[in-house]
Amino acid sequence: MRIDLHTHTTASDGMLDAPALVAAAAAAGVGLLAVADHDSTDAVDDAIATGRRLGVEVWPAVELSCDVDAGEVHMLGYCLDHHLDWLQTLLGRLREGRVSRAERMVARLADLGAPIEFSRVEALAAGGAIGRPHVARALVEAGWVKDPAEAFDRFIGRGGPAYVERVKVTPTEAVAVIRAAGGLAVFAHPGWAGRDDWIIDLVPAGLDGVEAYYPDHGPEAIEHYVALARAHGLLVTGGTDFHGGALATRVPVGSQYVPEEIVAPLRERAATRRPSRVPPPLVLAVE
Ligand SMILES: [Zn+2]
Ligand SMILES: [Zn+2]
Repeated sequence: MRIDLHTHTTASDGMLDAPALVAAAAAAGVGLLAVADHDSTDAVDDAIATGRRLGVEVWPAVELSCDVDAGEVHMLGYCLDHHLDWLQTLLGRLREGRVSRAERMVARLADLGAPIEFSRVEALAAGGAIGRPHVARALVEAGWVKDPAEAFDRFIGRGGPAYVERVKVTPTEAVAVIRAAGGLAVFAHPGWAGRDDWIIDLVPAGLDGVEAYYPDHGPEAIEHYVALARAHGLLVTGGTDFHGGALATRVPVGSQYVPEEIVAPLRERAATRRPSRVPPPLVLAVE
């Protein structure tokens, strides 16, 4: 059985909607799938329902973007109670932050002589969480750049002339949010940041795991993160970060090797969590 605990749908910046994603996963032999959209769980119920028909177990999940001084950290939340009112309110605020951020990037692009229509960016997001990939695609369509990579290089990459910061939670807050929602908090693709100290610092805050098995991690990185997890009592997860098409890791759903033995410890720990009726205290960073 293949396992893929990191996938995206049109509820954020993926190219496939939930039924299409689950169908693709089933066709690839995935038996356990987690749908982890950015700041949204809107695709989860649909994915679970499709999974029941196609014989794919689907875990509710989410991927939160967190602000750190020297970059961005993504925190995955697994097996959380995604119907909690306070969680949905928070996710809505984070998504609104994305919209106003995208609007401000569009305004800066106009100032820079590369105007695009915000309505087109929204349309490309198809009702999901608006992200920089949608701005990049609008720039390609408008002919200002040849591909999304150039859009990031020239305009909207971090530190670029049209880059805008947005409302975010800190990594510690993200861990608290996910645990209060009854879920497991997992440090996503740690190889991107390459900062083991950021992982270790979150252990006292309640971090549950690290995403060791990931397409951008070579065999040595995987070994390193599995060992780091063992040394700090963390669980390990893995997945493709599948977005469909040419976004993110660009590998097919289910194509990342994830050993089956990681699943039981995740299930056991998730079974001990109880969702809280109230959110943890948060200071949402703006700009
Ligand atoms: Zn990520
Ligand atoms: Zn992701």
